[in-house]
Amino acid sequence: MQHSPEDSSPLSHPRSQQLYERATRVIPGGVNSPVRAFRAVGGTPLFFASGRGAYLTDSDGRRYLDLVGSWGPLILGHAHPAVVAAVTRACHEGTTFGAPCAAEVELAERVVAAYPGIEQVRLVSSGTEAVMSAIRLARAYTGRDLIVKFSGCYHGHADHLLVAAGSGLATFGRPSSAGVPNAFTACTRVLPLDDEAAVDALLARDGEQIAAVIIEPVPANHGLLPQRPEFLERLRTLTRERGALLIFDEVISGFRLARGGAAERLGIVPDLATFGKVIGGGMPVGAFAGPRRIMARLAPDGDTYQAGTLSGNPVAMASGIATLDVLAAERGWEKLEALGGQLEQLLRPLLRQAPFPMHLVRVGSLFWLSLHENGAARTAATLSPQAVGRFAALFHAMLAEGIYLPPSAYEACFLSLAHTAADLERLAQGLRNVLGRLR
Ligand SMILES: *Cc1c(COP(=O)(O)O)cnc(C)c1O
Repeated sequence: MQHSPEDSSPLSHPRSQQLYERATRVIPGGVNSPVRAFRAVGGTPLFFASGRGAYLTDSDGRRYLDLVGSWGPLILGHAHPAVVAAVTRACHEGTTFGAPCAAEVELAERVVAAYPGIEQVRLVSSGTEAVMSAIRLARAYTGRDLIVKFSGCYHGHADHLLVAAGSGLATFGRPSSAGVPNAFTACTRVLPLDDEAAVDALLARDGEQIAAVIIEPVPANHGLLPQRPEFLERLRTLTRERGALLIFDEVISGFRLARGGAAERLGIVPDLATFGKVIGGGMPVGAFAGPRRIMARLAPDGDTYQAGTLSGNPVAMASGIATLDVLAAERGWEKLEALGGQLEQLLRPLLRQAPFPMHLVRVGSLFWLSLHENGAARTAATLSPQAVGRFAALFHAMLAEGIYLPPSAYEACFLSLAHTAADLERLAQGLRNVLGRLR
């Protein structure tokens, strides 16, 4: 291989470099979310100055085709005119009231209308907060303490969920975080994905103590690990039998894979669902939702406390509403599915000729370039060090081609409505050039 992470960036990025040096002095690791630091691919992170449609411009004025989309929220692309107009209008009316406003009702009504089986929504400011609150609610409602999660699924950074979490943590090769007392994770059970027998065994043994089983219905934080429908159906059946709640963490999949998220696609209705990313259209919004009988346990009606100074923030609501309305008006989910199909047709023949094992895993507008040696995985298998090295070389070579992939071999890529057929061609051509050179 010609490229190693250290020497593979033939382009210099002096402004990004300067900003990064300044950042490392005042911000731990120079970043406010670890995967941004490029530790998994080497080199120093790019600092971005602007984004338009499917393209990002870095602080040195270089332009990239963006396949990260801010990790999911930008389903319309950067700075979509309808979102910018709605946010601007909202800003002029006041950025926060700390009191109810119409826009909260409008966003909540859209979520209730879109997602199967829910009647009420509580709006928060991040996916982490949504999951944390949904779990508290599940515990309150069932009067039980245990929660079950799956290895490779990421549910934000709440203490009791940082157990064999995926994504950034997997990249760092650490199954959990320092600073989390054992007592906090003592009520969390972690199971492998794709394994009915393991779920059967745990629920047979501890079922009566389990408040909730939480899963990303389309796990997208350890690469992309689409599950067999039978596995998810088994979770639905068993949780119902045992009186535990099934929580779908739809922070990535919600409003991305379909109007009704993965639940609609799979035809499985969870008891609670969590949202983030797309629902805010690029502003900090999260939400959790469920039937009234469960949601009624929340304060002020119920005994389960949950609150937020900026929850339902009018500017963030405007961004979310505009995003969902454009998606609906443009039949966005159909278009994204078609775009994903086109991408697949372009990349499959290319990947067959790659000089190392490389597979395309795709669900709708989510896709993953998997470097697993033994084909597509359904569980959170660790990539070989060689595969991780190959990804680092690939990442930097693609950057030089003007294509921005997520800076980790374990991260999925995101398409948006701003991506055109020409952009997909550009991605394919970039990949063709790079794979030819890495040969
Ligand atoms: C991103 C993500 C979260 C956390 O959301 P934040 O807004 O980053 O706190 C939770 N669950 C899933 C499935 C996610 O992808």
